[in-house]
Amino acid sequence: MNWLKNWAQISPQKKFINDATFFDVDHASSFLAKKWEHPLQNHTRIGLLSENSLAMCVAIFALLKLGKEILFLNTHLSLSELTEQISDAQLSTVVSASQFEHRVTHLPLKIPPLFLSVLTEIPKLHHESFFLPEQPEKIAFIMNTSATTGKFKSVPITEKMVYAQVKASKEILGSFFDDNWLIATPLFHVSGLSILMRSLYNGTAVSILSKFDEDKILKAVETEEINMMSLVPTMLSRLIERLEKHRLRVILLGGAFIPRALIDAALKKELPIYKTYGMTETFSQSATLNLSHHHDKLDAVGRALPTVQITLKNVNKDGIGEIMIDSPMVMRGYLLKPPLSGPFETGDIGFIDADGFLYVLNRRNDIIISGGENIYPKEIENLVYELPEIEECVVIPRADEKWGQVPVLYYSCKDSVITDSTILSYLKGKLAKFKLPRQIIYCQTLPKNASGKIIRKVLK
Ligand code: ATP
Ligand code: MG
Repeated sequence: MNWLKNWAQISPQKKFINDATFFDVDHASSFLAKKWEHPLQNHTRIGLLSENSLAMCVAIFALLKLGKEILFLNTHLSLSELTEQISDAQLSTVVSASQFEHRVTHLPLKIPPLFLSVLTEIPKLHHESFFLPEQPEKIAFIMNTSATTGKFKSVPITEKMVYAQVKASKEILGSFFDDNWLIATPLFHVSGLSILMRSLYNGTAVSILSKFDEDKILKAVETEEINMMSLVPTMLSRLIERLEKHRLRVILLGGAFIPRALIDAALKKELPIYKTYGMTETFSQSATLNLSHHHDKLDAVGRALPTVQITLKNVNKDGIGEIMIDSPMVMRGYLLKPPLSGPFETGDIGFIDADGFLYVLNRRNDIIISGGENIYPKEIENLVYELPEIEECVVIPRADEKWGQVPVLYYSCKDSVITDSTILSYLKGKLAKFKLPRQIIYCQTLPKNASGKIIRKVLK
């Protein structure tokens, strides 16, 4: 992956990350690589702990130039969780932003931690760019899943997977010289890092926000050159009403189930939505739907990207089965766990229509079985989201002596409130009786992880 070096030679003055050019990032990362070469020799797997920043990106490229495996650490982890991950992943040391110094100095590391340098501290001397031979099977990154269903899993991402992802994504989204993709999701999750790698491959710019911040996003979209962004549904629903002036050509929307009401609202505003379905194990995007081309497929998540095969396993009489994915972008086993072969079992349930469009119904483990009947929480949530007062909602099973499980609805409101009985009477008539929530619980906010996804297990 010598894309950075190539762009630094072809278009050195073109902006890459915020105001830094391809030359600046290449130069600064080579400088850091030289500086870290000695302390990190004999150590392959290095942790990286930082909020989104230019300095973090420079460190990523420096470590790649040294041929290291970068394990991205979630900045929300406590000291004991970090300690556990460092021993689980057999990390030698950590590169950290200085704001986390108090935490990393207490970690059981083999060699002392290194700290990110601010770009302005890097002398303007010309440093020879590092050049590594291409090694498709080499692990470039180790990324943790979002931990929506349980404890996170660590996914080794090889150079081959990165290449397959960025190339397939480019075929679907296109690439223009002036593209500028906003990174408002953490770089320590695939949603953020995949944007950096796609833009690097395309030779285009990114703008980085340190964290999700509605006002900053709206301001960036209104006043800067941003024309692409990636959001999870909870983020878009918080932005949509205020998203007026923009030059966006792509809003990549996915990472979690997208309520139909949100799609309808986005269509009304003529937002350029590309629904996307993917996961850490595929280095993100594996199916995509350009809404403006497919008004008859609004509930689908699209068709498989080039080089991706999506199939179903254990298909029932209604054609619904477990979603399986195969592609060069698919992981071949979790970190330090037995290798996996064949198509990857996503744990998601869905179906594929006659035109090859994939519909994701639910996660397998979230399905509620009540009196022997399957209840898809998403079906109920989709209806609740039609109520204008609802901000967020989630349906969770509760153990029940008679029925085995029954559905319980948790919800939060926008500005105006709604009563439980209004919600229930809205659902009556639209849903079979056994699907009606047995309990309705108001929450001020619903618990979410760093990816912005609602964490059901906390409510369970
Ligand atoms: P964990 O595996 O740790 O429980 P996670 O699965 O949420 O966490 P990610 O890899 O970030 O971690 O998310 C991938 C999952 O997100 C998919 O398997 C799927 O369940 C869900 N998902 C992604 N995109 C969509 C979408 N467009 N519609 C519905 N679900 C989606
Ligand atoms: Mg998962």
